[in-house]
Amino acid sequence: MKKISLSMLLIFTLLVGILTGCTNSNPVPANSGTPTTTNSDKNSTDVLVIGGGGAGLAASITAAENGAKVILVEKMPAVGGNTIISATGITASDTQLHKDAGTPFTVEDHFKKTMETSKNLADEKLVRILVENSNSAYEWLLTLGLKYKLDPKDPSWIIPEEGHYGAQLVKAYQAETAKYSNIDLRLETKATELVVENGKVVGAKVTGKDGKEQIVKAKSVILATGGLNNAPEMIGEFNPKYKGVNTEMTTPGPTGDGIRMAQAVGAQLRDMEYFQMRPLSSNGHWYKEIIVNQEGIGGILVNKDAKRFVNETMGSWDLASEILKQNERMAFVIFDTDVYNTPDGKKIIEKGKGVKADTIEDLAKQLELDPSTLKATIDEYNAKNDPFGRKTIGKVTTAPFYGVKTLPSSHYTMGGVAINENAQVLSKDGKVIEGLYAAGEVVGGLYGAGRVAGNNTLDDIVFGKIAAKHATGK
Ligand code: ADP
Repeated sequence: MKKISLSMLLIFTLLVGILTGCTNSNPVPANSGTPTTTNSDKNSTDVLVIGGGGAGLAASITAAENGAKVILVEKMPAVGGNTIISATGITASDTQLHKDAGTPFTVEDHFKKTMETSKNLADEKLVRILVENSNSAYEWLLTLGLKYKLDPKDPSWIIPEEGHYGAQLVKAYQAETAKYSNIDLRLETKATELVVENGKVVGAKVTGKDGKEQIVKAKSVILATGGLNNAPEMIGEFNPKYKGVNTEMTTPGPTGDGIRMAQAVGAQLRDMEYFQMRPLSSNGHWYKEIIVNQEGIGGILVNKDAKRFVNETMGSWDLASEILKQNERMAFVIFDTDVYNTPDGKKIIEKGKGVKADTIEDLAKQLELDPSTLKATIDEYNAKNDPFGRKTIGKVTTAPFYGVKTLPSSHYTMGGVAINENAQVLSKDGKVIEGLYAAGEVVGGLYGAGRVAGNNTLDDIVFGKIAAKHATGK
């Protein structure tokens, strides 16, 4: 995922909103049918969608296409959520791109990869639905005018022909949303509680810009509030190991509201202990692990005792967990000029406010580490004596030397509310909670202990559409 500061992100998001238009002055397209709700009450609708990220936008468009009256509430001043910072691309199988390139990535490959990455904890039924609908989700994006190619490094990834994946995606969703007069998009409007009558979810309490609480009544409610990536305390509630992690890799909106609202109506949660964390972040930015795992020249991680504690080349999620086990749950990235001279090396020192010194001892003093211990740690590493089994041992020999404090940062919420094949939310005893659907990162069951990158914007579309179709009876 491309690094982007939050202030930049907000400005960018607002600009996208202004450029593409956030209000829906255009008529309902010819193919959209007639809204089924004739009630003139502005707070009564067929479908209430909570959250305007990838899942909420895909669900709103589909429900509107089916002729439903839709109210979409987004608590931030602009839509996009964490979808807008998604930089990888979409994972889809058996597409025309694969056929044209002669590089197969079959539905079966996709299923296997998703299940294996989840450590076989994902719900097979939901994963089947995800992968079997991936080509149609990809083709739907083409109808929105988006242009893609296969990632030359990995044929499972479909990436934009040019430009930033998430930003383009959200811009296209916004443009599509704006075509429907039956979508009433309300920005800076936060849903706080689901309203239940006779065991059925019939709407939600929302608070708008004016701070006044209103009730929006709806035949169906679709939760699309994203994960808990910007709620480090709540993350700790579900997995104490991750309590208080950094939040460099998220936009402000995903604070677990959907999980709280679903919990309050008795929804079943699953896999909530699993989160993806990126190990290296500092001073509001996150960094690629290449700094510590580059063959031949990579840097190292030390803890507050100035000692190495891990094979730095292990997978990034595990590396984050190992850092969190250290004293004060932090580590320091240490490297020499050869790493500094790579783009990522420069970035972590300049943006992460790292320090520079001509000797290791001096570096240690600036980082408040014990100088003789750090020197001994680095001498041992340079002698290629690695107790942690690192195979691609680099070296830290060429002055000046660099160091920066790092903390893991939350990246993706794997667990969430349990749903069935119609994206209906299930209660703790496995029964459907009538009137309530969920799609996107708020859902649990698709990723278990590990996520295939690029499946997330796919699941927004697949389950956003399924929820909207079922909610509108199509
Ligand atoms: P997904 O990929 O699942 O769509 P995103 O993170 O892209 O997830 O989008 C989730 C969106 O939901 C964000 O824009 C966030 O601001 C919004 N959101 C979260 N909680 C609420 C809430 N209580 N009311 C309205 N919008 C919310």
